[in-house]
Amino acid sequence: MSFEAVIGLEVHAQLLTRSKLFCGCATAFGASPNVHTCEVCLGMPGALPVLNREAVTLAVRAALALDCTVHERSQWARKNYFYPDLPKGYQISQFDRPLATHGHLDLEVEGSARTIDILRIHMEEDAGKNVHDDVLAGSRSYVDFNRGGVPLIEIVGAPQIRSGAEAAAYMRELRRTLRFLDVCDGNLEEGSLRCDANVSIRKVGATTLGTRTELKNINSFRFVAAAIDFEIHRQIAVVEAGDAVVQETRLWDAQAKVTRAMRSKEEAHDYRYFPDPDLPDLVLTAAAIHSARATLPELPAAKKERFVDALGLTAYDAALLTEEPELCRFFEAAVAGHKNAKGIANWILNELLREARGQPLAALKLTPESLAELVRLIDDGTISGKIAKDLFAELVTAGGAPAALVKERGLAQLVDTAGIEATVDAVLAANAGSVAAYRAGKTNILGFLVGQVMKASGGKANPKIVNEVLRRRLG
Ligand SMILES: [Zn+2]
Repeated sequence: MSFEAVIGLEVHAQLLTRSKLFCGCATAFGASPNVHTCEVCLGMPGALPVLNREAVTLAVRAALALDCTVHERSQWARKNYFYPDLPKGYQISQFDRPLATHGHLDLEVEGSARTIDILRIHMEEDAGKNVHDDVLAGSRSYVDFNRGGVPLIEIVGAPQIRSGAEAAAYMRELRRTLRFLDVCDGNLEEGSLRCDANVSIRKVGATTLGTRTELKNINSFRFVAAAIDFEIHRQIAVVEAGDAVVQETRLWDAQAKVTRAMRSKEEAHDYRYFPDPDLPDLVLTAAAIHSARATLPELPAAKKERFVDALGLTAYDAALLTEEPELCRFFEAAVAGHKNAKGIANWILNELLREARGQPLAALKLTPESLAELVRLIDDGTISGKIAKDLFAELVTAGGAPAALVKERGLAQLVDTAGIEATVDAVLAANAGSVAAYRAGKTNILGFLVGQVMKASGGKANPKIVNEVLRRRLG
C-alpha cells in the first residue's frame, strides 16, 4: 500500500518591535528573568491593554508581501487555557476574524517551483517561558515572563506540503521574506521564528485527511525536515500494523531523533474563544492598506531575478546574494557606486565573506562605497589585482579610502614600458637557465618569468605589458 503525507505548517514569527503588543515593556532578548514586565503583561486585575501600532504595521506588511487579503476590520479574541506561563489565563489572539487571509508563498524545492497557499495570518501575544530545573534539589520550575506579551504573527499554511524537505524549504523562504521586509529577525535560536507542523498520512488518491499529529515548536530547518520525515514513517508503520494514529501533540527529541507524545491535541473548542471585551476591533482604512502595499520593498525572489536579468549575474551568485538582507544591501549599495555588478559580486562572495569570518558586515571597516572605489581602480587599470587584494584585507580591518591609499603609497600600476623593460632585463639576466630552457621550447616557463617580474616590481607592473615585453625579449 502506498501512502502520501499531508503537512500543514503554522509558523510563529516575532515582530521586530521595540515594545510588547499591549504594553510598553521592552522585547529585547536575553535580559534577566522577569525584568521586562508590568501590570499589563503580568495580567494584574484591572490592567488594560493598549495596542502597539508598529506591530500592526509590521503584520500588515508581512500579510501584503505574502499576497494576502488584509481585512479592514479584524477582531481580538481570548484564547483560554491554563498554563503557568500565561498569567491572565488566556492569550490575546485573533480567531474567526483574523487580520489577513488567502495568500501564498512561492518557493523552490530541489530546483522546481512550488506554491503553498497561506490560509490566514493573525496577530497574537506570546506566552512566557517555563524553565524547569531538575538539577536543584526539589526539581523546581520557574516562569520567565519577559517574552509574555511580545507581538507575534501566526502564519497558517495550507496542508499542501508533502515532505520534510518541502517543509524546510517553505520555512527558509518564509524566513528570508520576513527578514527582507524587516518584519522579523528570523533568529531561530532565540525563538523569533518557530514552527508547528500538522502531519497526517493517507493512501495515495484518497481525498479525506487522516488523523493528524502536531509537532510543536520546531526551531531549525534541519529539525523540521527530520521531525516530519520521522513522523511520516512512524504513522505509516502504525497504520500498516493495523492500528490507528492518535491525535496528539508530539515533541521532536533532537538527540534520539524521534518524536514523542506530549499531550492529547486540543481542538479549537477546547480554548473557548470569545471576543476580547478590553479591545475594540482592529480597524484599518482601505487607504492605509493601499499605502502599505505601495511602500512594500522589493522581495528577495524579485531581486534575484533582477540581478540575473538586469545585472548579468549568474543564478548561483544571485541566489547567494539574496539569501541574507545584510549581504544583499551591501551588494546593492556597492553597485550604486560603481556599475560593475559582476566584479563587485565576485569580491563580495569570494573575498569579503572570507575576510569577514562570520562577523556581521556592519562590524567590518570596509564600506560598500570603498569596495565600489576599489573595483573601479581595478577596472580602470590604476591598480593590479594583486595590489587590490592586499589593499582589500587592510580595508576590511582598518578601513580607509582606496584611491587615497593608492596615491599615498604609490601603489598605482606601472604602465611605463621603459621602466618595465628595465625590470624584465634584470630578471632575465638573473634567470639565464630559465631563459635557455624557454628558447629550447619549454614555453610554459613564461609564467614563472612573469611572476618574477611582478615580484621585482612589488606587484605593481601591469601584467599585460610584462607579458608583451617578455615575449618580445625572449622571441
Ligand atoms: Zn508589560
